[in-house]
Amino acid sequence: MCFQDQLLTYLSELGPKIPVIFLIDFLRYLAFASLAFLFFYIWKHPFQNRKIQNKFATNAQFRREFLYSVSSVVVYTAVTFVVLVLRKYGYFQFYERIEDHGWTYLILSTLLILAIQDFYFYWTHRLMHTRWLFKIVHKVHHDSLIPSPWTAYSFSVWEALIHALILPIIATLFPVHPLALLVFMTFQIIRNVLGHSGYEIFPSWMISNRILKLINTNTNHDMHHQSFRYNYGLYTTIWDYVFGTVHPKYEETFAEITRGKSEQVQLQESN
Ligand SMILES: [Zn+2]
Ligand SMILES: [Zn+2]
Repeated sequence: MCFQDQLLTYLSELGPKIPVIFLIDFLRYLAFASLAFLFFYIWKHPFQNRKIQNKFATNAQFRREFLYSVSSVVVYTAVTFVVLVLRKYGYFQFYERIEDHGWTYLILSTLLILAIQDFYFYWTHRLMHTRWLFKIVHKVHHDSLIPSPWTAYSFSVWEALIHALILPIIATLFPVHPLALLVFMTFQIIRNVLGHSGYEIFPSWMISNRILKLINTNTNHDMHHQSFRYNYGLYTTIWDYVFGTVHPKYEETFAEITRGKSEQVQLQESN
């Protein structure tokens, strides 16, 4: 079969999967962003005195973020589709049967995917903040000065593409099972939605522990949206601490917010 015929066969085989890929990604975003929105902005929740910024985002911002997030899902779908076509040609190392590599491998490979993405995100994010790339690639995301759960996928097409490339990168490096991808994608959207939620949910004592302070917090990423500098990390603050890009006021701000607003007011009044 010539190259063109083979490509057409693959495209017609995989074509019907496009709406499914889109829906899985879109519904994952919609489910977790709506749940976080309902929890933090509609229901009475226990973190009300832990709002990171005093101002609230507008409905117009929510709408804009939602539409950009849909466009990001279109980009993710396109990248996944190209990866599936290339897989037919023997590229990438996906496997279907867990017993081929075992459960230990499955767990370790899932953790490795998250670790690689953490490092990849830190450096691509720093690059996006260079004068050359910021305006075209990253500005859309930073238009949300007060992040909300809907900000999670609010990216320009270029930024969405950069994030989506993590899939072909990891599938080139080592064998990946769909279950590892499912856990990874679910974890990333939960962390992403929480990081933009506008409220801090982590315990105050976390920041004084040398190991636990390496876990990224909602305050950390919120401060990135406010300052446009510092705190480039995703799941961890490891690379920010290693490369000296932690916001100078991060630990202090986290301690203040987790102390709770009412307590802060009482402290200020008693001073
Ligand atoms: Zn963000
Ligand atoms: Zn940024």
